Amino acid sequence: MSTEFIRVDGRLPDQLRPIKMVVGVLDRADGSAYVEQGNTKVLVAVYGPREIHPKHQASLDSAIVRCRYHMAPFSTKERKTPAPSRREVELSKVIKDALSQAIFLENFPRTSIDIFIEVLEADGGTRCASINACSLALANAGIPLRDLVSSVAVGKYKGHIVLDLNDEEDEVAEADMPIAIMLSLNKITLLQVNGVLTEEEFKQAFNLAVKGSMEINRVQRETLRSIYASIKGEED
Ligand code: ADP
Repeated sequence: MSTEFIRVDGRLPDQLRPIKMVVGVLDRADGSAYVEQGNTKVLVAVYGPREIHPKHQASLDSAIVRCRYHMAPFSTKERKTPAPSRREVELSKVIKDALSQAIFLENFPRTSIDIFIEVLEADGGTRCASINACSLALANAGIPLRDLVSSVAVGKYKGHIVLDLNDEEDEVAEADMPIAIMLSLNKITLLQVNGVLTEEEFKQAFNLAVKGSMEINRVQRETLRSIYASIKGEED
């Protein structure tokens, strides 16, 4: 009888961490969301489309997206310096690119859509949790989207293909592969691979990531539906 591989936190290889999603958590932002995936905690504020400053950044035929991914000094095991690191600059760009494809930018020329991500607690998969939260915050801001973007990482840990790695797994994983998908459009907006996977492992990992993102997408849609159902209830 084969025994299933049990992970450091008791999960099976194809199991996500517990998810919590809330939208509209910040009154002063146009849209906002808070997402927990296990111990990873992320808060996102979105502004716009709004008049752009400095004006020379404006595009005549579309909105531009500006994105800042920031890790709070208290978010990591060792205090992180508040100054932006190279990693934060890179992740800001990667997240912006993963989301921009979903937004009808051409509807809002000469404007900016500004996204602020604060990682409150980092326990692996912060870029994926950020993308999931940004997607919700953009929808909450009323910004028209082609589709929600759903994101999760898969990886190879102790020879097993596993879903949604936590930091402890991520530190020693043979490979780590975050992806982001617009599921109803069948479109990948982010795919990165760190480490080495065989072709067979890649296929297995990719299929697992699609499965995981479907579950995340379900929670995202439920979260949006619940808030709009309650607003409608208040109006009736
Ligand atoms: P992601 O958070 O998207 O998985 P990385 O693979 O770069 O991105 O980081 C993996 C994990 O490593 C993070 O989620 C976090 O828990 C930890 N980490 C990243 N940067 C730092 C840092 N400067 N100090 C301590 N831990 C960090």
